[in-house]
Amino acid sequence: MPLLPRSERTTHEVHNQPAPRDGLALWDEDAPLRAAVARTAPAHASHLAGFAAAIGTAEALEDGRLANRFPPELVTFDRSGRRLDEVRFHPAYHAMMRRGFAGGYSALPWTSTVPGGHAAHAAMVYLLTQVEPGVCCPMTMTYAAIPALEANPDLAARWRPGLLSTSYDGRSIPASNKTGLTMGMAMTEKQGGSDLRANTTRALPDGDGYRLVGHKWFCSAPMCDAFLTLGQLPEGLTCFLVPRWTPEGRRNAIELQRLKDKLGNRANASAEIEYHEAWAERLGEPGRGVQTILEMVHHTRLDTALAPAGLMRRALSEAAWWTRERQAFGRTLIDQPLMTAVLADLALDWLGALAAGMRVAESFDRSGDPVQRGLARLTVALAKYWSNKRCGPVVLEAMECLGGNGFIEEGPMPWLYREAPLNAIWEGSGNIICLDVLRTVQRAPEALAAFYAELDTARGSNRHFDTALADAKQRFAGGVEEAEARWFVEILALLLQASLLLRHQPGVVADTFVLTRLAGDWGRTPGTLPPGTDAAAIAAMI
Ligand SMILES: Cc1cc2nc3c(=O)[nH]c(=O)nc-3n(C[C@H](O)[C@H](O)[C@H](O)COP(=O)(O)OP(=O)(O)OC[C@H]3O[C@@H](n4cnc5c(N)ncnc54)[C@H](O)[C@@H]3O)c2cc1C
Repeated sequence: MPLLPRSERTTHEVHNQPAPRDGLALWDEDAPLRAAVARTAPAHASHLAGFAAAIGTAEALEDGRLANRFPPELVTFDRSGRRLDEVRFHPAYHAMMRRGFAGGYSALPWTSTVPGGHAAHAAMVYLLTQVEPGVCCPMTMTYAAIPALEANPDLAARWRPGLLSTSYDGRSIPASNKTGLTMGMAMTEKQGGSDLRANTTRALPDGDGYRLVGHKWFCSAPMCDAFLTLGQLPEGLTCFLVPRWTPEGRRNAIELQRLKDKLGNRANASAEIEYHEAWAERLGEPGRGVQTILEMVHHTRLDTALAPAGLMRRALSEAAWWTRERQAFGRTLIDQPLMTAVLADLALDWLGALAAGMRVAESFDRSGDPVQRGLARLTVALAKYWSNKRCGPVVLEAMECLGGNGFIEEGPMPWLYREAPLNAIWEGSGNIICLDVLRTVQRAPEALAAFYAELDTARGSNRHFDTALADAKQRFAGGVEEAEARWFVEILALLLQASLLLRHQPGVVADTFVLTRLAGDWGRTPGTLPPGTDAAAIAAMI
C-alpha cells in the first residue's frame, strides 16, 4: 500500500534545466558579426542575414545532427563485383550541402558584382561552421580551387560554370551532365604531407592528358567531381586536375581504399585513395605544381582561419544560454562573479578571432592591390595559427560552463570539442604555418612593413598596446630565428587582434584583451582577469 497519493509520488518534474533550443538566431544575436560585415561586406548584409536564418532553423539543426549520426558509407563494388568507389551519404548531408550551395558559399566571391565577396564568404564559413562544419569542407575546397584553375584558361573555362553554380547536384555522374560541381584536393601522401616534394605519385603523358599512378593518404570529400592533385613529371612536381569520370564517360581509375576513422565531425568523409593510371589534365607549368596548388591552399586557409571563430562562437552561445537559464546557490549562473569572469575571458578570444578573420577576408577582397595581397598572405597565416590554438581551450572551458550536461552527446558541446583541433592541422599545421610566415616576411618585407603600418593606426588609445607593438618591432628587427617562429607569429597575431578590437570594439573589451593577452595580467586558465574588470559588460557581448 503506497504511503503517499500518486500526485505526491511524481519525481520527474524538471526544473532549473533550460528548455532545448529550437533554432539559432545566428545573425540577430551576433552583433560583432553584424558590425564586421558592415565594415567589410555591407552590400551582402541582407543576403547573409537570410543565409543565417536558413541554416539556423530547427530543421537545419536536425539535418546537421542526422548527417553526423548516420555517417557516410564506402561502397567499393556494385552487387556484381564491379568497382564503384563511391561514398553514400545520408539525405540530411545532401540537404545541408543544398543550403550551402544555395547561399553561394563557394560561388559568391567569384560571381558577385559588388565588393566584399570574400568577406561575405568568410561570414558564411563562420555561420555554417556553427551548425554543421562537415559540409563546409567540400564547399571550401570548391571556393578555393577557382583561382588555382586560372593557371590553365581552357580548364578554367570548362570547369568554372559548374563550380560557380548555386545548385547542388550530389549525383555521381559525369560532370558535363551535372547542374553543380565540387572540387577536392589530394596532396598528402603516406610518407609526407607538409613536405610535398616527397610526393611519389607519377604522371605519365597519354595523348592530350596524363595517367597518374600512385596514392594519396588524405583525400577529403572523395565524392567531389574532380581533385587538384600533385604528381611527378621529369621536370618535377606538377599539378593536375583529376575528374571522377573520364571524358569518355567512364569511371576514372581512382580507387577508394578506405575511409578514415577520424576525430571531428562524422558527416564529411576523408578517404585514402589510389590512382591506377587515373586520367588527368595538367594544370600549370610542369615542375611548378606546388606554386600552382598554393593558390588553392591560400584560399582554403582563409576558411581555416574563420572556422575556429565559428566554433568558439557556437560553444560560447551555448554556454551563455545555459548559464543565463540555470541557477545554483540561489543565483543565476551567469551572474556569479567567477562564471562571469570565465565567460568574459573566453569571449575575448572569440571576438579577436572574428575580427582578425574578417579583416583577413577584406584583404582578400582587395588583393588587386599588391600591398593588400602581401597582407593577405601574412595575416591569413597569423589568423589561422592563433585562432586555432585558442579554439580548443575555449571550447573545453565553455563545455565546463554547462556542467555535466556539457558532456552529453545530445547537446552540441561534444562535437564542438572534437571538431576544435581540426583546422589547426589541416592546410598547414602550426609549425608549417610559422615557417611560412618567416618565408613571407623574408621574401616580401614590404608585407611586414604594411602590417606594422596598419597596427600603427591603432596606436595612441592604449599604452600597453603601444608598448607591446614597439617591443615586437624591436625584438624582431634583426630577423627571426626558426626556433623563435612561434613567438613571432603569436605576438603578431595578438597585436593584429588587439589593434582591431581597439579600433572597433568598446573600450572594456579592447583594454581587457590588451591587458591580459599582451601586458601579461592573465593567469594560466580562463577567468583570470585583472582586478576591477567589468566582466559583465564583456560577457554581455555573447
Ligand atoms: C581532417 C583532415 C582532413 C584532411 N584533408 C586533406 C585533403 O583533403 N587533402 C590533403 O591533401 N590532405 C588532407 N589532410 C592532410 C593534412 O593536410 C596533413 O595531415 C598535414 O598537411 C600534415 O601533414 P602530415 O600529416 O604528413 O604530417 P607531417 O608533415 O609529418 O608533420 C607532422 C608534424 O611535424 C611538423 N613539421 C613538419 N615539418 C616541420 C619542420 N620543418 N619543422 C618543424 N615542424 C615540422 C608539422 O607541423 C606537424 O605538427 C587532412 C588532414 C585532416 C586532419
